[in-house]
Amino acid sequence: MNSAARLPEWLKVRLPGGPAYERLKRASRQRGLATVCEQARCPNLAECWGGGTATFMVMGPSCTRGCRFCSVASQAQPPPPAEDEPALLAQTLAEMRLEYAVLTTVCRDDLPDQGAGHLARCIAAVKAECPRMRLEMLAQDFRGEKALLERIMDAGPDVLAHNVECVERLTPVVRDSRAGYRQSLEVLEHAKRYRPALPTKSSIMLGLGETQAELRGALLDLRAVGCDIVTMGQYLRPSGRGRNLPVARFLPPEEFERLGSMARGLGFAFVASGPFVRSSYRAAELFLSGRLEAHAS
Ligand code: SF4
Repeated sequence: MNSAARLPEWLKVRLPGGPAYERLKRASRQRGLATVCEQARCPNLAECWGGGTATFMVMGPSCTRGCRFCSVASQAQPPPPAEDEPALLAQTLAEMRLEYAVLTTVCRDDLPDQGAGHLARCIAAVKAECPRMRLEMLAQDFRGEKALLERIMDAGPDVLAHNVECVERLTPVVRDSRAGYRQSLEVLEHAKRYRPALPTKSSIMLGLGETQAELRGALLDLRAVGCDIVTMGQYLRPSGRGRNLPVARFLPPEEFERLGSMARGLGFAFVASGPFVRSSYRAAELFLSGRLEAHAS
């Protein structure tokens, strides 16, 4: 995160705490599982955990890619995913008694199936152990290989998410060269074609130098591929390391409000837009409010 000195007032947060937070932290620590919430020092942690939502990163702590907005370590050949991770994850989520959980993953371009098999086992194990809990899979692009995407969708997530991350023009600067804006749209388009009733979701970071016209273009592109849910939040530099891009602009809360209204006007079933919004922020709300069923019908 940028040194607090340069953050505008509306981005200064109090550190998380409280019984719900302590209980969830203990449960994940006991099994050596990493929540993205803690790793990214997410400002919403207290609110999400207090509301029964958490995000887990699977397939190890290192990624084969090096996106410039991300703090995850890069490694060309990370160790293989842990065989017991699906079972540990399922046990931890059962103990946490969450209403909604998000699984996210690093990219594993080094594996023959890019990790699709392991991810499918994680989803299946969690759904078997926690049948009442809603599970969102925030998937990578599998370099556009549709059969790998279908493999994780067949495992039964309740939401399939894939982030375009930024507007098209900035993609080559912000994301790893193996990622692509059109490729990401194709992932979302195929997910909707393969499972029309399954909600799809994407996320866009703002403050990287995009214009409002470019953002509107990206939102229209997402609607054109049937994306139901979109979140928009402030990009924050995760570290001072050269890999991580500086923030071009801090958008004030009222601007996020306005952009959120613009997105709702384009027909998304659910929009979360705000300085602290992250891809899994308020993720559960959509289901618990039953709004998706209303949108799908
Ligand atoms: S693909 Fe990019 S955003 Fe995702 S974990 Fe790897 S470096 Fe981070």
